[in-house]
Amino acid sequence: MKRTALRRQSDKQRQRTRELGELGAHIIVYGQINKCEVPQCQYRATYLRLDSHHILERSRGGKDNAGNLLLCCRGCHDTFKTLSPVISDEQAFKIAHERNLKAGIPDDLTGAMLREQRHSTLTN
Ligand SMILES: [Zn+2]
Repeated sequence: MKRTALRRQSDKQRQRTRELGELGAHIIVYGQINKCEVPQCQYRATYLRLDSHHILERSRGGKDNAGNLLLCCRGCHDTFKTLSPVISDEQAFKIAHERNLKAGIPDDLTGAMLREQRHSTLTN
């Protein structure tokens, strides 16, 4: 019984740490954004009204961190689900990375891009 209680607490702590880590990055980065991050799109909105696009899909190992998220309007977001996205994944990664550099947020651009390349190599 004691053992169960300890394990539950430690799971909770781990989850909380994970949540705060992601949240911390999101608050700082999102607060500086006031338009769709797709350069050719002029849709203006605060981060609260923009979608979080996972550049590398979660199903393919993409993370919820700032290096893998592009904040965009619903219209642009929808194109990423089609064969003709408004910008390429490489462009999206660059935009996210440059935004994170400006905001002083570390991200794993290199890791994400390497995973992307490895995936392309495997499927091509
Ligand atoms: Zn847009």
